[in-house]
Amino acid sequence: MTQTLKENQKMIEGIGASHGIAIGHAYVRVKNHSKEATVAKTDDAEGEIQKFRHAVNRSIDEVESLIRKSRMTMTDEERDILEMQVEMLSDPQLHADVVALINNENSTAQAAVSTVCDQLIVLLGELDSDYLRGRASDVRACSEQIIRNIRGESLSLTDIPAGSVLVADDITPLEALSLDLTNVSGIVTRFGGRTSHTAILARARNIPAVVGCGDGLSIILQGEMLIADGSEGHVCARPSDETMQAFVMRRRAFDQERKELLSQTTGVAKTIDGREVRLQANISGPQDMSDALALGATGVGLFRTELLFMSHGNFPTEDEQFGYYRKVVEEANGHPVTIRTLDIGGDKPLPYFDLPREENPFLGYRAIRISLREPDRFLEQLRAILRASAYGKVRIMFPMIVGLQELRQCKSLLHEARHQLLSQGVAFDAQMPVGVMIETPAAAIMADRLAREVEFFSIGTNDLCQYTLAVDRGNKIVTSLYEPLHPSMLRLIGNIIDQAALHKIDVSVCGELAGDPRATLLLIGMGLGSFSMSASSIPVVKRAIIQGTHMRALQIASDVLDMNDTDQINEYLTEEALNRNI
Ligand code: PEP
Ligand code: MG
Repeated sequence: MTQTLKENQKMIEGIGASHGIAIGHAYVRVKNHSKEATVAKTDDAEGEIQKFRHAVNRSIDEVESLIRKSRMTMTDEERDILEMQVEMLSDPQLHADVVALINNENSTAQAAVSTVCDQLIVLLGELDSDYLRGRASDVRACSEQIIRNIRGESLSLTDIPAGSVLVADDITPLEALSLDLTNVSGIVTRFGGRTSHTAILARARNIPAVVGCGDGLSIILQGEMLIADGSEGHVCARPSDETMQAFVMRRRAFDQERKELLSQTTGVAKTIDGREVRLQANISGPQDMSDALALGATGVGLFRTELLFMSHGNFPTEDEQFGYYRKVVEEANGHPVTIRTLDIGGDKPLPYFDLPREENPFLGYRAIRISLREPDRFLEQLRAILRASAYGKVRIMFPMIVGLQELRQCKSLLHEARHQLLSQGVAFDAQMPVGVMIETPAAAIMADRLAREVEFFSIGTNDLCQYTLAVDRGNKIVTSLYEPLHPSMLRLIGNIIDQAALHKIDVSVCGELAGDPRATLLLIGMGLGSFSMSASSIPVVKRAIIQGTHMRALQIASDVLDMNDTDQINEYLTEEALNRNI
């Protein structure tokens, strides 16, 4: 018996995309309707075009409703993937090409979608970039989804037995995010690369995955035993007893190692060679505090006060604000809380506050500009924050500062607020540190001057990126140009960190970049010792820290700061993170 199994054992090579070892029965889902359909013809072009449009609309609805339904549970990365899929489904060029094929060649809707997408997939697959090859699988997902809707089929993968290793051409983000993958112990796909959405989602859910296995997968039979080694990129079908034993032992060692890593997320974030890093949370109110602390945050690096203002029917009073801030400060258990003054305008309106209609709201009446033109309201917030400072460690921070003049105006109003409280005999922390968000290129360039007049900087990479690269952060058409790791961004961030060090003030990053584990060692190597991010990112960033060394961080910073193009930087950091099991 063993002998037969030994003879039957087959190894298939793929790309290790998500670490770990899965052992289970194969659940084979191979769809192949696209090939046979590419030759189908019609004499009802108008009807086929309608079918295509209807299927696209339905596909967009499916993705958008998943985004809405999972708003609270979805990670930013998962949302980005789905938003990119909507963008692809809406692509005017795709629509024009499909309609032209139906009109000119009498293709059916399904055949036209297949042909147009397959051509694009081949084109992308030939490119010399891991990232762009990964995009081929996004196009495939888009094509499969439209075709499924043309055929009127519902989502598949609903009946997978527990412990299965899923074998598929590819898995669309919609399938991965909308279906229960708890029964899936591993994923093996014919297509895809390390940065394809299947790979990203598998990593996010800690499911071992081997992608890009090609036609080798065709030998796998439904229900037979399969091993997927997502660390090394091997798939073993019909494993011999010896192979099975060896992989069971490796899986045990791997699982043990992962358990140890996750248990360390409650301790101090320290590199192997002893460099300590502070990890804090970005929050919007007291409701976020318990998660933040449970996931290892040692304080709040950014408390966005907008939610309080948005959830009221009118401006919250000073007392209401004080109560809200005080609750956060008390729940922080002695850890510092950095409260940012109101940052409305741009993409954040207040229903009861009449903001002007503007051509370019992000370049208009926003954040500190509003506060400074409404000094009475601003004083209310400043007094509320000062009063909360009597209950713990509070720091105050001003958003969207472009230079010294604004900062001095803010400080002068803060001074006035202190006097008002003093004259009323109300307690506050007279030493409350004052800081600024560095989120405009102007502030980044003026960091040397600003550093002399504040106690800390917090780098807002979200806005800094949009203003530096002239890319609206909310505009889907230019999403691909929004690159927080652009060399210009790294130069600005480097200057801010250097100036903070020179003037001996604290500096942290609180934009989304802080939660990207690929950038963790890079930023540490550039001199950063403090990060603030959404609480859910803390464990993975902590893992990047405790698995890395400061020496390696310095090397990464030196390599990356030498690079001139963002693709090269992204590829280097992705590869580097994969090598370190991040
Ligand atoms: C930022 O701009 O990076 C930031 C953290 O602020 P927000 O995202 O609230 O604009
Ligand atoms: Mg901002």
